[in-house]
Amino acid sequence: LGMHQYILETKHLIKDFNGFVAVNDVSLQVKKGSIHSLIGPNGAGKTTCFNLLTKFVAPTSGRILFQGTDITHEKPSQVAHRGMTRSFQISAVFPQLTVLENVRIGLQRATGLSFHFWRSDKTLDALNPKAISLLDQVGLADFAQEYTASLPYGRKRALEIATTLAMDPLMMLLDEPTQGMGHEDVERITALIKKVSAGRTVLMVEHNMNVVASIADTITVLARGTILAEGTYAEVSRNEAVMQAYMGT
Ligand code: ADP
Repeated sequence: LGMHQYILETKHLIKDFNGFVAVNDVSLQVKKGSIHSLIGPNGAGKTTCFNLLTKFVAPTSGRILFQGTDITHEKPSQVAHRGMTRSFQISAVFPQLTVLENVRIGLQRATGLSFHFWRSDKTLDALNPKAISLLDQVGLADFAQEYTASLPYGRKRALEIATTLAMDPLMMLLDEPTQGMGHEDVERITALIKKVSAGRTVLMVEHNMNVVASIADTITVLARGTILAEGTYAEVSRNEAVMQAYMGT
């Protein structure tokens, strides 16, 4: 396997919040092109890991490598520029705008045009074909002219994925993409993640084990800030320590 088998690696990552070690010596390896799921009970350190990866939070010690480059001390914007985007980070979705307008804002960001509401209609209209194609990819083409505020919750989450895709990221970090969804939306979003992961890497925090079982290539189980187990769903689901962590023992 090549030198860039792993698109993302952490080495002995530690985050200590004034004596409380939320992430404790985590060495994570995410294979390029994989769907990798981070799971674990509440308080396991999943969100803190995401915050460390996207540079929202600085590690106490340890290193983060993206495509072999040390990004430990880079700014969030530099990391985004390298092609690692987190869904909620990029996709502050504006409820008062239409679905199409929201995706166009994502595209403006991606093309380096700062987003200006006062840009001429002509400039914005030029982005329409690309925006509509993105909406089509996430099954939202029919909702293009709707106000975002009026979208059902599951569709809003799909829009979030569309605005993230506007950045054409190498790696997408998805924070509980199916949280709070009914069965139908869960199925739709799961299929969508699978589809948009083609040619990219996806790292997601996900609580729904059906989703994890159906799309994750690799699963890392965190508990109390450390990696408890790693492997396929079949492997981690029969791991004794994992079962105990979930039983709360
Ligand atoms: P998870 O996402 O797996 O539920 P978190 O990463 O949110 O876990 O939290 C892990 C632990 O770190 C929790 O006990 C939480 O209270 C603690 N923690 C998270 N952020 C902070 C912070 N800024 N200051 C102090 N403790 C924190």
